[in-house]
Amino acid sequence: MERFQKQIAFEPLGSKGQEVLSRSKALVVGLGGLGSHVAEMLCRMGIGGLRLVDRDYVDVTNLHRQALYTEEDADQVRPKALALRERLKSINSRVAVEGKVWHVDASNVTRLLKGVDVVIDGSDNLSLRFLLNEACVRAGKPLVFGAVAGSQGYAMAVLPGVTACLRCLLSQNTVPQPVRDTGLYPPTVRVTSALQCSLAVQALVRRKPEKAWAGRLHVLDVWSVEMEAISVARRVGSDPCPVCVRGEFEWLSAEKPTGPQVIVDDDVVNILPERKAEVDLNVIRARLQRVQHVKANEYLVWAQIGDVEMAVFRDGRMSVKGVGDWSEAVHLYERYLGE
Ligand SMILES: [Zn+2]
Repeated sequence: MERFQKQIAFEPLGSKGQEVLSRSKALVVGLGGLGSHVAEMLCRMGIGGLRLVDRDYVDVTNLHRQALYTEEDADQVRPKALALRERLKSINSRVAVEGKVWHVDASNVTRLLKGVDVVIDGSDNLSLRFLLNEACVRAGKPLVFGAVAGSQGYAMAVLPGVTACLRCLLSQNTVPQPVRDTGLYPPTVRVTSALQCSLAVQALVRRKPEKAWAGRLHVLDVWSVEMEAISVARRVGSDPCPVCVRGEFEWLSAEKPTGPQVIVDDDVVNILPERKAEVDLNVIRARLQRVQHVKANEYLVWAQIGDVEMAVFRDGRMSVKGVGDWSEAVHLYERYLGE
């Protein structure tokens, strides 16, 4: 029996679509609720390859909405990209799955896009979305945007040169509220990620961007059970889109500041070293010997100090959660990673 016979029997996909899917590779940036579910679905459906990227580790507060992670992953502070890669390999061993524990920025996004056919936005912040949008428009690769807040989900397929891009969209429509303000109802993640998965498959197997799926912002509410599609026009004319019309890529060409870089996203502070260099995690562990709650694996050292959680990754990055002010995170960075 053919493993994918049921989906091949679905005529719009068919054996031709399945063949294309099996030769395609997707990049999934951000492996939270949306990214983990999209990756799982694409893997089960028999995509050829997946490149999974996330800078964070599994936390018990992720488990109510994110796919495939376990309490054991949280207990062992496993990086999401690697925990998910292991699960996916056991679900469909024919899929080539790569996992990268990276903070995505202008210095590495172009490398990440190499060899992939579609990009899934599983990020949770606007600056990363704008960066992905520019990278995809410049490379001419489809990007499937997704966002969730409360019981509302948003999804849109961006086909560079054909449909509106994210910059066009965000100048015309209401930007979704961050998850923190509205909470998040878990079924929203499932429905929105399923829609993102379908848009990604269609971007791969359909030649023509028919109105039904491309260039429209799909907005759904799983609590009031409503769904609508809003047409998003490309911003041409007197006030053209800087990205997809004028070809200006400000996020991609952003200058790297000198010294360690501090990035604040909601309640998480990430501090990147000036130059990437592998750190000896045993040395970091030794510096934390007086701290009671310390965990370590081959990718990171994690410690809880009062209400603050910090993790030092092999590439010299530190992530800090639970600080009131980012300067507290800088203080920790100087203390444990300073020269
Ligand atoms: Zn645009």
